[in-house]
Amino acid sequence: MSFLAPRFAPPERILMGPGPSDVPRRVLNALAAPTLGHLDPAYLAIMDEVRDFLRQVFKTKNELTMAVSGTGSAGMEATLVNLIEPGDEVIVCVNGVFGGRMKDTAERCGAKVHAVEAPWGEIIEPSAIAAALDQHKNVKLVGIVHAETSTGAHQPLEEISKLVHNAGALLLVDAVTSLGGVPLDLDALQIDACYSGTQKCLSCPPGLAPVSFSSAAVDRISARKTKVQSWYLDMSMLKSYWGQERVYHHTAPINMTYALREALAIVLEEGLENRWARHTKNHLALRAGLEALGLKYIPKHSLASLNAIHVPEGVDEAGVRKRLLTEFDIEIGAGLGPFKGKAWRIGLMGASSTKKHVLLVLAALESILGVSGGTTAATAVYA
Ligand SMILES: *Cc1c(COP(=O)(O)O)cnc(C)c1O
Repeated sequence: MSFLAPRFAPPERILMGPGPSDVPRRVLNALAAPTLGHLDPAYLAIMDEVRDFLRQVFKTKNELTMAVSGTGSAGMEATLVNLIEPGDEVIVCVNGVFGGRMKDTAERCGAKVHAVEAPWGEIIEPSAIAAALDQHKNVKLVGIVHAETSTGAHQPLEEISKLVHNAGALLLVDAVTSLGGVPLDLDALQIDACYSGTQKCLSCPPGLAPVSFSSAAVDRISARKTKVQSWYLDMSMLKSYWGQERVYHHTAPINMTYALREALAIVLEEGLENRWARHTKNHLALRAGLEALGLKYIPKHSLASLNAIHVPEGVDEAGVRKRLLTEFDIEIGAGLGPFKGKAWRIGLMGASSTKKHVLLVLAALESILGVSGGTTAATAVYA
């Protein structure tokens, strides 16, 4: 043998950034199960199970629900490219990185995009959407981010859903950092298209994008006059692979589907309500701890899954993150866009939303910043 690869040994981290989150051993073990053919009846049965579990986690009866091959951004692209025809007018709400990405993607689909913007860290007010719908009568779709991971803002959707439907448009929601961690009910909110990712609150490695389309969205796709610009993400073809026909489209990422199956099973075994309550509890404990350390939250409406805080004046933002990683094996996220160098983003997603994670990151910050009182304040919340 002339080649001997160096030992393969990625370090074991504690993942508390904006994703990926810690992956339970049960999910990692699923990845190592024997690979099946993509049309093997045993694999098709697993796909059916994934669809069923996804419908339960999305809280929907939507027939067109599946996991698209690719990360959360592929889910974004899949919803937009199927629902938009060149020249369509759409509204996209932008108050952070992911709203911006949605706008860019919609433009690439040939849409005429009207952006409804809010400052980073703030939510989109329903009145701003009402005004935009009033001004643009031909809007066919309104896209909005439920959990803006770049700022930690938690977007309320009830009122916006009513406005959008009263105007005869479809509602598209980015639920990448909310699905499985933050209350979300597709059917109750009448969401027409929704996408998520596996590596945030579902605690599965990155690689698949759960998506779901309402019957109104399916009708819109069926009524298209032009072909979907993306062959890979064309729902009319993917539907035939995930549906009864089982027509080969592309080779599904078999072992990733196993992992998602297990990750969703864990969510359903815990129960969605219990899981949401756990995320809230750990967020409140972390928040009490961070505020006791003098750290301030950026958004007024904070997500339970993502805690975005201001870096105090005079503190080396990147230096602290580096010490968290090298001395404690803890990963947290940096600020993006206007918050570059000015914010930390601490994720409490899925398996990373535990009392252990909360106390660990607070103790590590106390040690690095030379302050105290964070773990005591957090512990009081659990009492
Ligand atoms: C992470 C994220 C995405 C993109 O997901 P990838 O898996 O990185 O492609 C999209 N939207 C939001 C809100 C996210 O947090």
